[in-house]
Amino acid sequence: MAPTKTTSRPADPDAPATAAQASLYQQLRAHLAVLKLHDAAEHLPGVLDAAATENLSVTATLERLLAIEVDATEARRLAGRLRFACLPTPATLEDFDYDAGSVVDPHLIADLATGRYLESATNILMIGPPGVGKTHLAVGLARKAAESGYRTYVTTAADLAARCHRAAIEGRWATTMRFYAGPTCLVIDELGYLPMPAEGASALFQVIAQRYTKSSTILTTNRPITSWGEVLGDTTVAAALLDRLLHRSVVLDIGGDSYRLRDHHARTHTLRAAAGHV
Ligand code: ADP
Ligand code: MG
Repeated sequence: MAPTKTTSRPADPDAPATAAQASLYQQLRAHLAVLKLHDAAEHLPGVLDAAATENLSVTATLERLLAIEVDATEARRLAGRLRFACLPTPATLEDFDYDAGSVVDPHLIADLATGRYLESATNILMIGPPGVGKTHLAVGLARKAAESGYRTYVTTAADLAARCHRAAIEGRWATTMRFYAGPTCLVIDELGYLPMPAEGASALFQVIAQRYTKSSTILTTNRPITSWGEVLGDTTVAAALLDRLLHRSVVLDIGGDSYRLRDHHARTHTLRAAAGHV
């Protein structure tokens, strides 16, 4: 915009410069809008004021402006990941009470909370009776994973089976399998609470098999792995599923004397032997 002279005010020696600055400022806002840096655009006046009053260098001013945009972008992405994750409860690892009676090693949970297991595609199997905090811990780990930037999704075994069933009917099987392959952290809660139809067991197997060695699955169950043949209606499918699930895994045997951690390999072996795999 060209500077204009007014008759009502005395000539302002700064006016041309101010007008040029105003034009530059508008240009800058337009650039930010084109680049969709909306938060930076919104905070531009404040940052420029701060730059003037605090005598900030150009570098410091740019850093301050872009930091606002980066923070806002990260907050949006986190909100998106948490929305996608479908966390069923507000449970967090921080509000898990280790003195509440369930047998959970706080050091192991602290280690899992770092998310290192996700980098090695390690699975987590949580076994224990109802109410010991399996879902709480699984959701807490899922929340941590989402907060750490990993694509995360929480479902139940029954929902997974139902969704795969619909997908098969509607000709979306491949898309649905890709969907379950996507998350870096997939929680499948409550295996064993509801009877699983044969095609549900087969869908679960395929989900576990395609994620095997690529990404982590957290599975919770109230049933010992020795009875998964019964849970899945087929000992061969159960053995094949356990084979992949436990190959690289952490097993949390929560609150039970009957299914101790050190037994899980022996149990897998027993089951595989029963299925004729050994
Ligand atoms: P599970 O999945 O093993 O059946 P949940 O995780 O659903 O058990 O736990 C039942 C309820 O008790 C939830 O509200 C959960 O947050 C709470 N809860 C269980 N264990 C603990 C714990 N150790 N500390 C805090 N809350 C717990
Ligand atoms: Mg539960």
